[in-house]
Amino acid sequence: MTISENLKKFNKELPNDVTLIAVSKTKPVSDLMEAYNAGQRIFGENKIQEMESKWQEMPKDVQWHMIGHVQRNKVKYMAPFVSLIHAVDSFKLLKEINKEAKKNERSIECLLQIKIAEEDSKFGMNEADAAKFLVSKELKTLQNVKIVGLMGMATFTEDKKQISEEFQKLKKIYDQFKIQNSEFRILSMGMSGDYKIAIENGSTMVRVGSAIFGEREY
Ligand SMILES: *Cc1c(COP(=O)(O)O)cnc(C)c1O
Repeated sequence: MTISENLKKFNKELPNDVTLIAVSKTKPVSDLMEAYNAGQRIFGENKIQEMESKWQEMPKDVQWHMIGHVQRNKVKYMAPFVSLIHAVDSFKLLKEINKEAKKNERSIECLLQIKIAEEDSKFGMNEADAAKFLVSKELKTLQNVKIVGLMGMATFTEDKKQISEEFQKLKKIYDQFKIQNSEFRILSMGMSGDYKIAIENGSTMVRVGSAIFGEREY
C-alpha cells in the first residue's frame, strides 16, 4: 500500500474526534510530501534538528509536533514554529520552553508525559508528581506555555490486556486532572501497534508512523 492509501484508510477508520499525527521520523521529505498531497497536515518528529530541517523544506501550513524526549539545549531550534510538544516531564524543561516561546513572542502548547509502562526505559512523570506540578505556584509564573493534556506510551508487549489496562490508567488520570484544568483537551496515546486499543480507551490523538510510511530502517 502507498502512503496515500494508508492515510485514506486511517481517515476512514478513525473516529472524528481522534486526531491523526503522521509520525515521519527518519523518512525523507518526498514521503512527507506524498502524505501532504493526500491532505495530511500534522506531522510528528522525535529529533528537533530533523524536524527543523523538514520545517524549512515543507509547505508552511504544516503543523509540527515534537513527540520525542526533548533536550533543553535544543528547544531554541523549534520554538519559532512547533505547534505541540508531547513529552514534557520536568519543570526545568517547561521553563526552558517558556523562555524560548517568550523570545519568539508566542505561546507553546505542551502535554505532560505520564509513565504508564512497566519498562524502566520509558520517560515520564508519575501521577502524584504530575498532580503536584499542575497546581504549583511555579507553573503559574510561566506565561508562554500552556499544558493542554497528557501523553503516554504503553509497554511494548503482545499482551493486549496489559496495554489496555495501561491506557485505562492514563485515561483515568486525564479525567481526574481535567476537572481542575479547563485547558485540558488532548490525550495523546496510541501508535501503529496499539492505536485501536488506545482509541477504545479514550485517546483523542494517535501518533502513527510505520503503519503510514512503512517500517523504518533505523
Ligand atoms: C516513533 C514514535 C511513534 C510512532 O511509532 P510507530 O510504531 O511507527 O507508529 C509514536 N510515538 C512516539 C513517541 C514515537 O517515538
